[in-house]
Amino acid sequence: METGVQEKIWLSSPHMGSTEQLYVKQAFDSNWIAPLGPNVTGFERSIEGYVGNNVHAACLSSGTGAIHLALELLGIGLGDEVLCQSFTFAASANPITYLGAEPVFIDSERETWNISPELLEKAIVDRRNFGKKPKAIIAVHLYGMPYKVDEIKAISRKYDIPVIEDSAEALGSVYDGVRCGSFGDIGILSFNGNKIITTSGGGALLSKDKQIIDRAVYLATQARDNAPHYQHSHIGYNYRMSNVLAGIGRGQMEVLEERVSARRNNFLFYKENLSSISGLSFLEDPKGSLSNRWLTCVLTSSFETRERIRIALDNENIESRPLWKPMHLQPIFKEATNYTNGVSEDLFERGLCLPSGSNLEQEDLERICTIIKANFDD
Ligand SMILES: *Cc1c(COP(=O)(O)O)cnc(C)c1O
Repeated sequence: METGVQEKIWLSSPHMGSTEQLYVKQAFDSNWIAPLGPNVTGFERSIEGYVGNNVHAACLSSGTGAIHLALELLGIGLGDEVLCQSFTFAASANPITYLGAEPVFIDSERETWNISPELLEKAIVDRRNFGKKPKAIIAVHLYGMPYKVDEIKAISRKYDIPVIEDSAEALGSVYDGVRCGSFGDIGILSFNGNKIITTSGGGALLSKDKQIIDRAVYLATQARDNAPHYQHSHIGYNYRMSNVLAGIGRGQMEVLEERVSARRNNFLFYKENLSSISGLSFLEDPKGSLSNRWLTCVLTSSFETRERIRIALDNENIESRPLWKPMHLQPIFKEATNYTNGVSEDLFERGLCLPSGSNLEQEDLERICTIIKANFDD
């Protein structure tokens, strides 16, 4: 039926390959419906092989749960301070509060839009002057763009503060020849529905230290002591990934490289077709880095222009979205300490995420670019 309304174009929708259902069927056929089982182990080996760099993986029920466990594993507790990138999705910061700890938000630098090494060091020195030694750093490869790994690592070593590497958006991104996920003392991934690959919901905790992984699995499965009865010497969680969903993950791993290149191609298409517009700009890959371009983001010249484009797209049934609203501007974190420089606030005002799914067709991309261009002709 011709309705006159064009088909919806989503920001980032799930994109299945061809073997996901086979793995799920295996789970059904063998009655491995309960959590754990061969798909979970298979998915973990596959992630380890892909990320490389001697990393170990534990699959969990969400990326948020993985950050929660990461903080717990680093001994974060009541009243502790955790330094967290302000420019991110709330799930990076929320788990800090689950443990009664306090986030201290750090603004971004312009080159990658991620945590500013300069401000981070300033904050650490400042907190120490207040007699508060921060207990962890949460750095995020936002939109798939690797943060300044070497600089952050150097600060982490200098002040002896571990790093949680939030790689939820960055599976397949590369920094200095190594894939993201293994740079932090603990790394995390997300397989939520809109991420680069999905298990409908899920996450993983990564570390080069096998003991951390074993401990994560123990905590994620209700922290059972080694005894025939149920005995607990530690508070546990129910955070393990289901064997059914891990089947989807195994299938998705087989197409991950295709998904990364499709998203990178979206970015290149937008850049080629839109960069002649003065007042629109794109974030380039810094030397040595390769973003998976989970989402393609553009910067406009003003809040008004950003909104004009967003609304024009929305009127044509196309989903786009302002960049993440920084945590230090969120009502829920208005009491939190922050170290800011205006960068994330500016990005939030002027930035827009364009449709970026790996399942977008060439004609979708053309339609989007035509609408954006039309809004600059007047
Ligand atoms: C999606 C996301 C998370 C949380 O992952 P879930 O699997 O949705 O819980 C954490 N951090 C960032 C930056 C994310 O984009």
